[in-house]
Amino acid sequence: MNILVIGGGVVGVATAYYLSQKGLSVTVLEAQERDGDFGATAGNAGLLSPSDAFAWASPSALKVAIKSLLKPQLGIQYKLHMDPTLWRWTASFLSQCRSSQWVENSGSKFQLAQYSIDMLAKLQLETQINFDASHQGIAYASRSPSGLEKLSRHFNFLEDRGLKLELLDRGALHEKLPLLQANSQTYAGAVFSPNCKTGDSAKFSLELAHWCIKNTECQFIWGASVEKICQKDNKISSVLTSKGEFKADAYVLAAGAQSGILSTQLNIKLPICPIKGFSITAPLINTKIKPMSGFDDTDRLVALSIFGDRLRMSSSAVFDGFDTNYKQENFQGILDLAKEILPNVADYSAAKYWTGLRPMTPSSLPILGPSPIPNLYLNVGHGNLGWTLACGTGKIVADIIAKKKPQINMSPFLLNT
Ligand SMILES: Cc1cc2nc3c(=O)[nH]c(=O)nc-3n(C[C@H](O)[C@H](O)[C@H](O)COP(=O)(O)OP(=O)(O)OC[C@H]3O[C@@H](n4cnc5c(N)ncnc54)[C@H](O)[C@@H]3O)c2cc1C
Repeated sequence: MNILVIGGGVVGVATAYYLSQKGLSVTVLEAQERDGDFGATAGNAGLLSPSDAFAWASPSALKVAIKSLLKPQLGIQYKLHMDPTLWRWTASFLSQCRSSQWVENSGSKFQLAQYSIDMLAKLQLETQINFDASHQGIAYASRSPSGLEKLSRHFNFLEDRGLKLELLDRGALHEKLPLLQANSQTYAGAVFSPNCKTGDSAKFSLELAHWCIKNTECQFIWGASVEKICQKDNKISSVLTSKGEFKADAYVLAAGAQSGILSTQLNIKLPICPIKGFSITAPLINTKIKPMSGFDDTDRLVALSIFGDRLRMSSSAVFDGFDTNYKQENFQGILDLAKEILPNVADYSAAKYWTGLRPMTPSSLPILGPSPIPNLYLNVGHGNLGWTLACGTGKIVADIIAKKKPQINMSPFLLNT
């Protein structure tokens, strides 16, 4: 059986790996060249974090949206566009904000994230690929004692479902993350998730692609942008790309934020909203700095990781369509925080600026598996957590294609038609 995977970001590559492990012949079509920026995979914060499994649609989401309209300098910005697709998505998002729905969505996402982290560990053992992973946990810090208390109550939800957590006071936080020592008064403390990890998803994707090419029946065609998906007798018959026509027995759509645009050609409506985020990657000044825990300033909404010889910091959720342009001022919040808490750690004048789109569904859950077209499968809508979810969702979609029962209850992740 031949399978074409559309999209070579972290989700597409992980899907290709699990398909090829089943002895299937796989071709990945990726619009970017081999050394290009693979969608949101290229510059995300690098957190491998079931601890971030909370659904965004919650009883407090409306309050946050109104605050963002009044205070545009906040990390979250909802821009009022005359776009019926955005309105439909927003209406669906609001319908998910009930407390009971939030509990259901967050619980399902957490279970999937835990499964995915287990799959990633097995993959790492099997392939031995290097993606500058650090296994030192993630700290969620707050600047005030009351904020820390609130944070700790919020995390009870995941702790009750099995996530290991520790509460760190200021001293314990600085012991865990000595690099923060310079400004020892900034934070009141943190909720610490010791089993979470960090790693570079772009490096992971490229290393895994090369591993698959070397060890399996898998090929990657970089620089092949899928322009048209052709249908015959209610099945996909081929795809037309900038590098010609490709045919297969089955097709997997894994094109991140672009998936909704591609699926409209097939009259399939995928509720995926692109939500823009920003990051900087700056070279470490002192190359002897060891990888440290991931870190999240929950008041400023900035997350950071150290990958090998570089620091990655990311922030913001801007509803602004597919526009990935940016201005210097978009990075000011990140740079200000970097200079406040890690002043002598990286060379910020040499920082690389980046912006990418989270492929977000109203429920914050990815859409996996079958589509209304029998030989088209979906692995889309991973939102703010696609790096964390990539291996789990790749394995699940490969299981479904190979007609094997997935190890996770699929009902929360099926496309509602
Ligand atoms: C600022 C920011 C911070 C984030 N931080 C984290 C984090 O810390 N942890 C975490 O788990 N997640 C994080 N995420 C989310 C994560 O990056 C995404 O969920 C994940 O990258 C989605 O993977 P994907 O492969 O589905 O899509 P993408 O990474 O966007 O990849 C899609 C690929 O499809 C290709 N493509 C698109 N259209 C076509 C076409 N027509 N033909 C061929 N190829 C096509 C694109 O070129 C791209 O390479 C963050 C996202 C952002 C924006």
